[in-house]
Amino acid sequence: MANVTRRHFLKLVGAAGGASAVYNASLAMGLMPQVTARANIHLQPAQVGKNNKVVILGAGIAGLSVGYELEQAGYQVTFLEASHRAGGRNLTLRSGDLVDELGYRRYCQFDDKPNLYFNAGPARIPGHHRRLLHYCKQFSVPLQIKANSNKLAYNYEHGKFDNQPVRVGKYVADARGFMSELLWKSAGTINFDAPLSEEDKQRLLDFARAYGDLQENGHFIGTDRSGSKTDRMLENSVPNTPITMERLLDSNFWRYSMHATEEYDWGEPLMEPVGGMDGVVRGFLRNIKSPIVLGAQVKGIQQTASGVQISYQHKGELKQMDAHFVFNNIPSHFLSGLETNLPADYLSAVSTIKRGKLFKVAFQMKQRFWEDEGIYGGISYTDQESSQLWYPSHDINAEKGVMLGAYVWRPDYLAKFENLSPAERLKLAAQNGEQIHKGYSDYIEVGESMAWGRMNFMMGCGNYMTEEDREHHFARLQAPEGRHYLIGDQMSHHAGWQEGALASAEHALLDFNQRLASGQWV
Ligand SMILES: Cc1cc2nc3c(=O)[nH]c(=O)nc-3n(C[C@H](O)[C@H](O)[C@H](O)COP(=O)(O)OP(=O)(O)OC[C@H]3O[C@@H](n4cnc5c(N)ncnc54)[C@H](O)[C@@H]3O)c2cc1C
Repeated sequence: MANVTRRHFLKLVGAAGGASAVYNASLAMGLMPQVTARANIHLQPAQVGKNNKVVILGAGIAGLSVGYELEQAGYQVTFLEASHRAGGRNLTLRSGDLVDELGYRRYCQFDDKPNLYFNAGPARIPGHHRRLLHYCKQFSVPLQIKANSNKLAYNYEHGKFDNQPVRVGKYVADARGFMSELLWKSAGTINFDAPLSEEDKQRLLDFARAYGDLQENGHFIGTDRSGSKTDRMLENSVPNTPITMERLLDSNFWRYSMHATEEYDWGEPLMEPVGGMDGVVRGFLRNIKSPIVLGAQVKGIQQTASGVQISYQHKGELKQMDAHFVFNNIPSHFLSGLETNLPADYLSAVSTIKRGKLFKVAFQMKQRFWEDEGIYGGISYTDQESSQLWYPSHDINAEKGVMLGAYVWRPDYLAKFENLSPAERLKLAAQNGEQIHKGYSDYIEVGESMAWGRMNFMMGCGNYMTEEDREHHFARLQAPEGRHYLIGDQMSHHAGWQEGALASAEHALLDFNQRLASGQWV
């Protein structure tokens, strides 16, 4: 390989070492962008008696944010929410909470204790989600650090490593060692061109040695980063025997999961509200005075000459409400089922937003056995149906804990779980957990599952558009159709994150403000 430029080199590093290697190398070369601050929303005050009635359809995070900001600016706001609760996918389950799954309506059976909860939707907040962190600060939502990765957690692959779980840290350290040795060896044979100077090359070798814990001669013979055969306190460290290159290459963890927690949104330290992610929702609810009508399922949206007319089902009655503007947070795949006079080409553009699915299981464990294994938070991986096991990093040393027994997105695994009854799902997740932690099932007291594809008023989660559809329709959908704005993470490039929902809310409000100022809706 001849003539390697910086950009080409970074690509090579990425292919071999994943996000963190690129990140480290990029930082060294000064190429990473800075975190950007949240835009300030300075809404024009509502003009008294004129254009000041707004209805928000759906009280998800985006709807709550838009409604809150408009209320602050003096608008008369009403929220219509189909479910029995506000928050949408931001759902934390505790003792006695309703799980409104179609066909399996039930109540969460956890003990009634503040530390025993299940973040069935969002669970993590990265430090660069400025909009979400802004609201946490504004509403005094207490945050704590959430461990996302843990080198003492496990990776389990059926039929590999003698069917034994391998500590993630051992795997990562050995994989990096071998990868760095390869880089070291190849550096000697590459004829780097002018953009990568001899000095750069030496820096790369230094980087490879530090990154992989190589010997002076560039060989990798094992590292105590992967753990020691001694306890290292009263004796010298003796590195664990490294996993062989053949075994590493044979494993899928190397290719897929090893770098998962190094994605930009999963970069630590992450945060979570103390006591559950719905602390964010409660923060909004504490500060919103406008009516939030729960159990109000919107059935129709009619545009009129001076605004909108909304019809909705509430307590068995079909009701109507007029407003000057509507901000619509309803999942887009439900829109075709509503009675509307929104133009056909607009609805056709809406239909290009496709809906994804996710599935979770949580177990209340009678003992925090993972802490006895040195695991305080983070994620274990399995190639079995459960895919991921998460350990709580809050309430360490408490008697009991709720841990995530499955977090699934792979379509075949997801379908398998979804098609089981709630009891059978727990059984399957318990079997998977047993392969990582012997005696796992014995610790389980009760469990709960969350099949987002079967949840009432949701029927899915996460959204995506093809690049082609996004190019053709996204800008159109960001603009209002008459006095109707579509909002939610479905209207962001970052669906599946509350920050995407808030970014769409912010965009819609700034656009609304601008159009109002320009006299469009006088
Ligand atoms: C498993 C999972 C893990 C996630 N992990 C994270 C994470 O770690 N961090 C993070 O920031 N984000 C995460 N997310 C994403 C985050 O939850 C969403 O991006 C965000 O909550 C979406 O908010 P929204 O306002 O766009 O819409 P939604 O929450 O979808 O709100 C839509 C609302 O519309 C209501 N509705 C539906 N039909 C009607 C109707 N006909 N009439 C009236 N109301 C109606 C619904 O009940 C709901 O309240 C996760 C999501 C899931 C499911």
